[in-house]
Order: sequence, then structure tokens, then C-alpha cells
Amino acid sequence: MSELFDRLKEAVGPAGFIAGDDVGPRYFTDVADKLGPKPNLVLRPASTAEVSEILALCHAAGQPLVPQGGMTGLVGAGLPAEGEVVLSLERLNAIEEIDTESSTMTVGAGTVLQTIQEQAGAKGFSFPLDLGARGSCTIGGNLSTNAGGNRVIRYGMARDLVLGLEAVLADGSVVGNLNKLIKNNTGYDLRQLFIGSEGTLGIITRVTLRLYPKPASQTLALCGLDDFAQVIRFLRHMQNAFSGGISAFEVMWQSYFAEALKVTGRHSPFADPHPFYALTEVLGGSPERDQEAFESALASAFDAGLINDAVVAKSLAEVNELWQLRDASSEVTRNLAPVLGYDVSIPVSRMVAFAEVLTASIDELHPGNKTVIFGHVGDGNLHVTTTAGAADPEQSKAVNCLVYKLTGANHGSISAEHGIGIMKRPYLSYSRSDNDIALMRTLKAALDPKGILSPGRIFEV
Ligand code: ZN
Repeated sequence: MSELFDRLKEAVGPAGFIAGDDVGPRYFTDVADKLGPKPNLVLRPASTAEVSEILALCHAAGQPLVPQGGMTGLVGAGLPAEGEVVLSLERLNAIEEIDTESSTMTVGAGTVLQTIQEQAGAKGFSFPLDLGARGSCTIGGNLSTNAGGNRVIRYGMARDLVLGLEAVLADGSVVGNLNKLIKNNTGYDLRQLFIGSEGTLGIITRVTLRLYPKPASQTLALCGLDDFAQVIRFLRHMQNAFSGGISAFEVMWQSYFAEALKVTGRHSPFADPHPFYALTEVLGGSPERDQEAFESALASAFDAGLINDAVVAKSLAEVNELWQLRDASSEVTRNLAPVLGYDVSIPVSRMVAFAEVLTASIDELHPGNKTVIFGHVGDGNLHVTTTAGAADPEQSKAVNCLVYKLTGANHGSISAEHGIGIMKRPYLSYSRSDNDIALMRTLKAALDPKGILSPGRIFEV
């Protein structure tokens, strides 16, 4: 084993590895403070060629490894397991090119999301993938988990924002290309094998991203609504008014909203509480005209009885204040801890029934629990956080089963945007058929016959 480690160290040079006692906690701790065993070796390659050499050596020796980005994942996929070498992509962080004519940016997988957003902004573009962890998550992690976030309703998931992708297979061969083409039907779309597969099929090393024009205006309102049927009608009303151009439609149940006010120390902008709050946003190209159109769409929603109250942001400071309530979700979670958290997709038509049955069933199992719900309702994604059964592993398992069973019964997904990793692995079959999982295993065996890449993530080997 030490001979392999020596050859791996030689492949990356002195700046490219950390070994033994020098391995710091950030290589075995994730954003939720979960710990893996301390790895003996962390490799930090600085080029695709070095990644390729590392994988060729590990493949030959049957040495398992786990790729790491910003460690902001919530399903435990990036934590090393016993005996795994950590492959950190943090040094692959070059902005290689911004092509203003093709509207693309080519970067290394270890580039921090916020850096990409800022560099795009400086050239008059926007990279619209956005999530709370923007300051520490990396694009390689965003892609390997197919991250979602707040603007999926308009721009799609991470996979929709990638034009070209380079990856290294388990045996060290380099595949893919950094093309800038939107239309490219030349056989299998290999990009999509690596996006969302959580590091199990190959290591993403470089990507060419799709940029959008930087919006000149951001109009935003927080609306109070009486019931969920109103929420859905209001969403449709706004989508009709802006030809499907809504850039965010975030809904907070009163239970979440009250906790968000508490942790932010803010007062509600409304005199009375509402059962639901919708934060709706439109990005556009003409500040004055857009504000007028936005307010007129809200006025007609009010006249039609779709919303009961609304606060419109009049400045960037007010935009940030309103977003702060929605962005407070991690503080809310920390404040209620210990909690169980769920990230599920439910067809919009079944969402209200799902939420009602869910809270009633949790209450029946654990009277007196606190359950808060919020989510990207425009794209069918709910985040549920509950104190029910969270302090006890057996009770946690029972609540997990309840939530995932109900999700499956409503034709939903047990993971909308966080992935499966280790934590959701036992529940995969609530969302995927036996044949689907068998095909995933076939792909895994074909691309990684020795099972060295992130073994045990998504499904057991
Ligand atoms: Zn989310």
C-alpha cells in the first residue's frame, strides 16, 4: 500500500498531497458537521493529466477514492469512508476563458460558484445557478449533484447550464470535450452520465458553462395568501403575465415564516399572519417598464382574489431584506436542531394533499413536534424540516419511511436537488424502479469495473 501512496505522491508533487497527521478536519467534515474517518492521504491534483494519472494508479491497485468539492452537500457523499483516499479538486480552479461572443465560460471543476457568478457579472453576463452555499460550493460539486436552487423555474437545474464537460474515467482515460454548442446531436450525450451521478461514474475536471445576459432589473414581491389552491392559481397568473419568465416563486408556510422572523430578528411586513407567503421575482431588461408591469400583474392578482396582501420591494436593500427571510432556512434549521430534513419533489397538483397528510401523519406519530415547510413551489420542490423523532435513530428511521413512502405514493422524488449519497440510499426504491436501479448498476460496472469511485454512494455495491 505504501508503494502506491509513494507513486500517487510522485504524480502530484509536494504541493499536491497532504498525508497522515497533516490532514485537516475540512477533508473529513461536511457542512452539517458530520464526520468521516480521517483519511490517510488527500490528493490535490493541479491538472487533468494529474487526475488521470491518479486514477490510473488507483484503478490498477483497486484503491477506492472519493472526490471532494466544497463539502456543502447534505447527503454525506463527499465524506471519506474507511480506507478511501480523498481526491480534492480545489486546485483545479482556473477561469480559463470567458467567450463573450458565444456567451460561455470555461472553468476548472474546483472553481467556487460565487467566483463564477462574479466573473460572469464583470463581463455583463449572468451565470444563473444560485444557492445558499454559493460562497463555498464548487462547480464540480454542483454538477456531480446536479444542484438546483432558487432560479430553476427559469433557467433549469445545473445540468441545463453545461455545454461542454471533460471527465476522467476510473481507469484514467479522459473523455468529453469543452464544446460551446447548444445543438449537438452526435450520439449519446456523455455529459449527462457525469452530471448528477455523485462522483460514481467519473471525475469531472473542466466544464464549459452557458451564460445568460445580465438582467437590468429585479422586481420582487412578498405576497400573503389564504390557501394552497390560491398559491397555485397565483403562480399560473404570474407565469401568464410574464410569458413564463418568472425567475423565482418561493413559498413559505406560516410555520416556516414565523421561525424565519424569529432567527432574523425581523418584524413581519404584514399586519396579520397568512397561512402561505409567496416570494415572486421577475428579472428583466428595463427597470421602469418592468416595475410597472410587475405591479400591474400584482394588482390584477389582488382584484381576482388570488392574493390577500403584497409588499413590493422598492430598492435593492428591500429586495435583499425580503430574500433574507427565504434565505434564513439554514439558520431556522440550526435553531430547531436536532431535526430531520427532507428535500422532495411532488407534482404541483398533489402538493397540497401531500403537505396536509404529511403534517397530520407526523403529528399522529409525534404529538407536539415542530414541522416547518418551504420550497421552490414553482418547480415542485418542497423542503420539510421536522423535530419529530430527530433525537432517536430508530424513531428517525420511522419518520424517514413515512415521508418517503408518502412521497413515492404521490409520484414524487425523494431527492429533488440534494442527491442520494449515503443518507438517502436505503430509500431510493421509493422513487426508482428495480429495473432503473439495475441499469444504474450496469452503467457503474461498465465505467468503473473495480468500483473505486465513491463506492457505496447512491446504491450499495
Ligand atoms: Zn432548495
